[in-house]
Amino acid sequence: HQTAVYRETSAASRHRGGSHLRLDGVTKRFGDLPVLEALQLEIPKGQFVAIVGRSGCGKSTLLKLIAGLETLSDGKLSADDQPLSAHRDDTRLMFQEARLLPWKSVLDNVGLGLKGDWRMRALEALREVGLEDKAAMWPSQLSGGQRQRVALARALIHQPRLLLLDEPLGALDALTRLEMHALIEKLWQRHGFTVLLVTHDVPEAVQLADRVIVLEDGHIGLDLEIPLPRPRPREPASPGVSALET
Ligand code: ADP
Ligand code: MG
Repeated sequence: HQTAVYRETSAASRHRGGSHLRLDGVTKRFGDLPVLEALQLEIPKGQFVAIVGRSGCGKSTLLKLIAGLETLSDGKLSADDQPLSAHRDDTRLMFQEARLLPWKSVLDNVGLGLKGDWRMRALEALREVGLEDKAAMWPSQLSGGQRQRVALARALIHQPRLLLLDEPLGALDALTRLEMHALIEKLWQRHGFTVLLVTHDVPEAVQLADRVIVLEDGHIGLDLEIPLPRPRPREPASPGVSALET
């Protein structure tokens, strides 16, 4: 049984064409504290971007700006040449904790805020993350990894075009992280959304992303394309993973 879904072709390139997300001189200060300074960035549709950098370098702030949870000090954010605010509904943000409502069932958490007949869609979203059979359970009855799957389903039901992941696997054990890698990769292949993944796990960034951006002192210190085909976990290139699989 294969635990990882591999990128056989550049399937994501199907979804590409033009720039999806654009940062123009994006600057953020908290009072006197400069956090992000005139970031310039263009992200094509469907790209899987990992953002890495030391704790406190502004990674979460960057995602919050893109999600509209923080306001810019200066600069411009746009998607498809429109202000990003026009795309809020296409954008979902996921955190290190699933942030589920404990008094609602798993299914109700996935359908949170939706009107009308969302139950079938919520079930379908749960099926996609492999948790169809947990629909009636409470969040407290799930493991950390399962709760993150529910958070993913809650994002999927909105059919996002931009998925912002803020260290979503940071609190999970290594084996669960590995399973989540496979799931995130599968969903990305299938849905073709643009992903911005914040992680402090550099191997994770290289394994999952098309492109790795290093934030350093409020600037982009490194902007690396990861060539395809990427090293596969079964090959000796990643001894940690192949050891688990053999
Ligand atoms: P990272 O996610 O890379 O660890 P953050 O984006 O959370 O970093 O924070 C970047 C810097 O901005 C840190 O110095 C942090 O203390 C500061 N910061 C973040 N949010 C706020 C806020 N709401 N008010 C004041 N300072 C903040
Ligand atoms: Mg952070």
